Amino acid sequence: MITKEEIARALDSADVSNLSVARRLGCRWREVDEVRQGLNIPTYQRGRRAAAATLEELFTAQTVAVDGGHLHWIGATHPRGTPVLNLRNQTTTVYRWAFRAEQGREPQGKVQPTCNYPFCVAGGHLEDRAMREERRRKETGA
Ligand SMILES: [Zn+2]
Repeated sequence: MITKEEIARALDSADVSNLSVARRLGCRWREVDEVRQGLNIPTYQRGRRAAAATLEELFTAQTVAVDGGHLHWIGATHPRGTPVLNLRNQTTTVYRWAFRAEQGREPQGKVQPTCNYPFCVAGGHLEDRAMREERRRKETGA
């Protein structure tokens, strides 16, 4: 019996067809398609690989601006809700990617939203460990 988690792991990008996953795992096409819909992974299209999207295009296509300057993520997420970007079998959290795009540097440690919008991916609403420690120093006045 193939679980949805196993299918989700095999189905990690739009570059993988339902049929190839079904064949690899020995399950039904329909089961794979259900998981794909659930994860919001676009339908595989033959030949689209050549024109593969960049992470920036994927980010833009999967975010919706909401009141307060927040960015709502409509793309794939980890089971705990963390937004993830999938591109050519590589997965990165949207937090890390948006942080890098906003700050122009690699984040240190964990990147988390600072606002109260659930799973907000607005670059300016994210902080890494260095920023968190700096903010706490200021807050405590130490
Ligand atoms: Zn926000």
